[in-house]
Amino acid sequence: MTGRWKGLAWGAIAVAVAVLMLGVERVATRNALGEGQVRAETTLRQTVNALEGHLRRFEALPALLARNDNIRAALAAPDDAGRIAALNRWLDETNTLVEASDLYLIDLTGTTIAASNHARPDSFIGQNFSYRPYFTAARDGASGHFFALGTTSGVRGYYFASPVRGSRGAIAGVLALKIGVDEIEAGWVARDYRILVTDPDGIVFMSTDPVWLYHSLLPLTADQIARIAASRRYAEAGLSVLATQRVRSGKVDLLQLVDGNGTEREYVMTAREMPQAGWTVRVLLETAPLRAQARLAVAAFGLLLAVALLLGWTVWQRRARLAERLAIQATAQADLERQVAERTADLTRANDDLHRMQADLVQAGKLAALGRMSAALSHEINQPLAAARNYADSAGLLIDRGDLPRARENIGQILTLIDRMAAIARHLRNVARKPNEPLKIVDLAAVVQDALAIAQGRLTAAGARVSVALPADLPLVQGGPVRLQQVLVNVLSNAADAVEGTADRRIDISAQAQGDEVTLQVHDHGPGVAPAIADRIFDPFFTTKQVGSGLGLGLSISYNIMQDFQGDLRVANHPQGGAVFSLVLRPARAGALAAE
Ligand code: ADP
Repeated sequence: MTGRWKGLAWGAIAVAVAVLMLGVERVATRNALGEGQVRAETTLRQTVNALEGHLRRFEALPALLARNDNIRAALAAPDDAGRIAALNRWLDETNTLVEASDLYLIDLTGTTIAASNHARPDSFIGQNFSYRPYFTAARDGASGHFFALGTTSGVRGYYFASPVRGSRGAIAGVLALKIGVDEIEAGWVARDYRILVTDPDGIVFMSTDPVWLYHSLLPLTADQIARIAASRRYAEAGLSVLATQRVRSGKVDLLQLVDGNGTEREYVMTAREMPQAGWTVRVLLETAPLRAQARLAVAAFGLLLAVALLLGWTVWQRRARLAERLAIQATAQADLERQVAERTADLTRANDDLHRMQADLVQAGKLAALGRMSAALSHEINQPLAAARNYADSAGLLIDRGDLPRARENIGQILTLIDRMAAIARHLRNVARKPNEPLKIVDLAAVVQDALAIAQGRLTAAGARVSVALPADLPLVQGGPVRLQQVLVNVLSNAADAVEGTADRRIDISAQAQGDEVTLQVHDHGPGVAPAIADRIFDPFFTTKQVGSGLGLGLSISYNIMQDFQGDLRVANHPQGGAVFSLVLRPARAGALAAE
């Protein structure tokens, strides 16, 4: 990879990682916020249930108590001090019994004529509540309820009111019951939740954080402000709007609020309406811990990703190194192969040169051999021819003179010379021998006997003393009896040549069978074969003898004949002097060959 591509690849990886991390961050945050919302909703449900249960406990009470005769009697005679005093006591007792905040009776003008708190300095007695919506609703025959801050007590409360009907069913007054919300609020264990209850105008009147009390979550219109002032719902509490900001993130509502310490915090907001009371309950859950949790998850993922990338990089590096090593090896191998090929080409060239040289040598050798043969032949034939011509000339003269006996003598000489030339011709014919004559079973003893008989003249002339020692159980061999005899005659003639004129003129013929070989040995006690020429004596036309004495064909022909018998002709020098020619033959296998 080039540097530029590498840079691009790294850039692409970096972008991919960044995109991935962003995606993971979004998913983790959404999950954490969603989880927070679920928790907030659970709390919201519990809060709403508790609130509804609490209100329901008191809902039916005013209507029930309004039927009491004492109440109706007091309304009929509001100036009867004794009756009012008795009613006050009864209201006090009942109020304590039902665990309400206040219980009081209002006449149709809105003035309180009897109250459970009659004994307290801030007693409702004599107070006029005609401006309170719960009063007007009950006076008009409905059941009223209303939430407000007490104008007299300054205590927040929820008011239930019911009309009190006189003897003929006409509404004679209103019985009102106030319950406090302080204990409910105190029961909210804040922890990480914030609970807010707002009225239909969005004004917070119950809260885990007092700082938000009597503040509006929504901007208020002039109309709303006037209505709130008329109902004196929040008495003299100064209303203001909370600096809030609502954002919707996915399925989660987020709200930003300034808390008691003046710091703006973000919350997951859940809300539920309480239609009967006209309230909206909100549970807020701070998002900071949720976001921290999400960040932790993202960090963990980032760490994992980093580890994975590092691992991937390491593996990639290792593979790259391996590939590099392999490439180096491949180059080295290719180098080696090229060197081998070069060497081979060199060798082939050298070999070709050698072959050419050998061919040249063979050619030269052939020419030399041909020259030697021509010289030998012309000498061998010219000499007898010249002699024969002389004898013939003399014979003619002798016949002219009438000297017939001497003429006959000359003719005899001519015949001898002709015989000699015929012998040479025979030799030459042997060179062009027939190599593939079928082999026969041959008895070596008989061959030795015949060969000795043929060579007898030459052996005697050389003064050789021949001894024959053949073992009686010598196996029959395979070969051609005439050709084998020819080989043996040749070797014997050479032996005769070798011993002629030396002191020790013995020639020993022996034989032995060993393994797959039957060997006939001719050991003369002559000078032996000089090592320098030992491997050339089987070459055609190789001779050390004087021109006219040998053609150098004998051993060459003999060697080839022995090869035809699947045998061999070997030469060695005997440790005690003289040459040893070994005619190696194969023992005849029964039935394989025809007997001679
Ligand atoms: P030629 O007898 O006509 O020379 P051969 O082929 O028979 O041809 O022999 C080749 C040569 O081998 C001889 O010239 C001689 O030098 C050598 N040679 C053969 N037989 C003997 C032997 N028994 N002792 C020493 N040299 C020998």
